[in-house]
Amino acid sequence: MKVLIVEDERALADALEHIVRRAGYAADAVYNGTDALAQAMEGGYDVIVLDVMLPDMDGFQIVSRLRARGNPTPVLMLTARADVSDKVTGLNAGADDYMTKPFDNAELLARLNALCRRTGEVVLNEIHFADVTLDLNAARLSAGSDSVQLSKKEFELARLLLSHPRQTLSMDAIYSHVWGLDAEVTENNVMAYVSFLRKKLKYLNSRVTIRNIPQIGYRLEETGV
Ligand code: CA
Repeated sequence: MKVLIVEDERALADALEHIVRRAGYAADAVYNGTDALAQAMEGGYDVIVLDVMLPDMDGFQIVSRLRARGNPTPVLMLTARADVSDKVTGLNAGADDYMTKPFDNAELLARLNALCRRTGEVVLNEIHFADVTLDLNAARLSAGSDSVQLSKKEFELARLLLSHPRQTLSMDAIYSHVWGLDAEVTENNVMAYVSFLRKKLKYLNSRVTIRNIPQIGYRLEETGV
């Protein structure tokens, strides 16, 4: 599970990131609405934790803009106000769930899990697409009775692609989700890891292929269907 955290209070953003990472999930944090929209639209997130009160635009505007642009990522809104009108506004704008601060860590994680399950892509500790299964705990990719171990970066790339099958993922989305927002990474790094993964898919005799979309990025597809 990959979580985008949008929260302008740095201490709270750091705490949220820590909670999510300690639960074994990946997390990125951004601190304003403009960055939130840009980052969310790059795709690759399974769920967004969105603070209502932000410096440049509010969480309601962000979620309605995401939905207007066709972004279906589940959104959990966070607010300091236990105001029922906020809840209604948030849900009307397209949010999927709502929590008030201060929140209980375990409840937050449970709700994030529930939102991810609702998208139907991530099933417990495995991701399936066509004839391949990625074991999220062991970082092993399998097809039929064969399986191969993935390196850390191969695993992150496989997880991103398998979480968004048949969707074109931009190079920027791949950079930020596999290498992190601040990493120095070039197209050659991505090409190298795509090539490693392709070799492993070939070894597994899988029908799944990683297609290059020129000038944009990559898309996971199933051949022969
Ligand atoms: Ca705030």
